Amino acid sequence: MDCIFCGIAKGDIPSKKVYEDDNVFAFYDISPQSPVHILIIPKAHIVSAAEITSENSSVVARIFEAAAKIARDAGLSEGFRIVSNCGDSAGQTVKHLHFHLLGGRDFTWPPG
Ligand code: 5GP
Ligand code: ZN
Repeated sequence: MDCIFCGIAKGDIPSKKVYEDDNVFAFYDISPQSPVHILIIPKAHIVSAAEITSENSSVVARIFEAAAKIARDAGLSEGFRIVSNCGDSAGQTVKHLHFHLLGGRDFTWPPG
């Protein structure tokens, strides 16, 4: 399987690592959309949020535990946004589940 985020999680493809544990990997987005823009992914290959089941959902809890810690460590006490684009019409370009952790500026709502 040719998955760029699997390669990053394994360390085969270089990235700026922010956090790692047995099941979760986090790294800086290569094309940041805010002063802090970190991607948090399961090490296991899950295509998107549409593929989360009772069999694999525990890693999502681990991801959000990591997100809270990463946001704290990044000093995002004023707030931050977590986004997961799912599918083509939502703009998902990498078909390995990932959560964007965005911070360091104000965000509008609703998103575009
Ligand atoms: P999506 O568009 O699927 O929601 O998000 C994919 C994100 O992955 C984009 O923000 C894009 O900048 C980022 N990205 C794509 N390829 C790479 C890469 O090789 N390294 C890093 N660090 N980020 C990447
Ligand atoms: Zn993958």
